[in-house]
Amino acid sequence: MTHDLTNPKNWKPATKLVRGGTVRSNFGETSEALFLNSGFCYDSAETAESRFNGEAPGYVYSRYVNPNLAMLEERLALLEGAERACVMASGMAAVNAAILCNVKPGDHVVAGRVLFGSCFYIITEILPRLGVEITLVDARNNDEWERAITKKTTHVFVESPANPTLELTDIEFVGKLCKANNAFFIVDNIFATPLVQKPFELGADCVVYSTTKHMDGQGRTLGGAVLASEEFITETLLPFHRHTGPAMSPFTAWVVLKGLETFELRMKQHCKNAQKVAEFLEGHSNIAEVLYPGLPSHPQYDLACKQMDIQGFGASNMIAFKTKGGKRAAFDLLNNMKIIDISNNLGDAKSLITHPASTTHSNINADERQKLGITDDVLRFSVGLEDADDLIADLQQALA
Ligand SMILES: *Cc1c(COP(=O)(O)O)cnc(C)c1O
Repeated sequence: MTHDLTNPKNWKPATKLVRGGTVRSNFGETSEALFLNSGFCYDSAETAESRFNGEAPGYVYSRYVNPNLAMLEERLALLEGAERACVMASGMAAVNAAILCNVKPGDHVVAGRVLFGSCFYIITEILPRLGVEITLVDARNNDEWERAITKKTTHVFVESPANPTLELTDIEFVGKLCKANNAFFIVDNIFATPLVQKPFELGADCVVYSTTKHMDGQGRTLGGAVLASEEFITETLLPFHRHTGPAMSPFTAWVVLKGLETFELRMKQHCKNAQKVAEFLEGHSNIAEVLYPGLPSHPQYDLACKQMDIQGFGASNMIAFKTKGGKRAAFDLLNNMKIIDISNNLGDAKSLITHPASTTHSNINADERQKLGITDDVLRFSVGLEDADDLIADLQQALA
């Protein structure tokens, strides 16, 4: 079958990742040029006026958008199959803007209760201060979602898989509840990435990313993105974004554009390595439990197969596991690593392992962490691109 190759929407993901959104200057450079300018000049006062009132297209100020940001936004929107993207200075700037751009006192926000520490802070500390009512649910339990989402619900926020314990939400189920109750459904798809999971096809209204993670892929920059309908981005998000200033640096956008060119290749290998490592950990006598949606033993394996591309791609590179012997055993394992680094970042070519309870989730009090299953024996492992056999050997010697 022939298809129209002049329309980038018809390209396969790998082609979108290499070429989507690229705009060349009049020099005809092969790779994307880097535009390190804060402002733009106009050939007349009338041009300036018409750009500011929106009658003429063109750039105005890099707090709004610049050519590097525009290229990245177009590439991400194409990959996701979204109408529009807006990139920001960090993943948290993106999560924050996606929620705060349209909450008001009296709103009701429902969220999965296992969240990255900073997402947890926005939902449980900032929103109540603004007069927003919040309800946290066990995201694995559809009955809890059904009870929590009602006609008064305005927003629903989930991470699936959730950071750090990789609990899954049935995104399609929650999407239907949101539709029926007219709630705005935001999915943090950072752990799965757009290559492994497509939240819009499952009913999401908005998808958020930290480009810091797998999209940069080499741990060099901080960035984030919000994807949604043209209407939501232009009418609701952009006014908030433009006037509050969480703009991404053009340099970051340029680095992430480069990162995306190899995103599909890298993710395939990340997932392959993670699967091998998870299978090794599952069989080890010093490991109490492995939490990886790509293992048939995972309690939500069927859901993972339904909503993530487990067969074609894999279940991401993120693994959580519990050591036998509590915090001491977990710390000993970290301290014994010869190759794998102790770091709270993730999605990097370098394998990174962290103890969430004392780092990324230490802002959640100990009782609450216990309830959420973020216990002192949990480690979160971002499997990198080294040879999987070296990673397994490192774990093996550290566990011995
Ligand atoms: C890292 C992360 C974020 C925040 O992204 P930053 O780029 O670090 O601000 C948000 N949600 C999840 C699930 C993350 O892992």
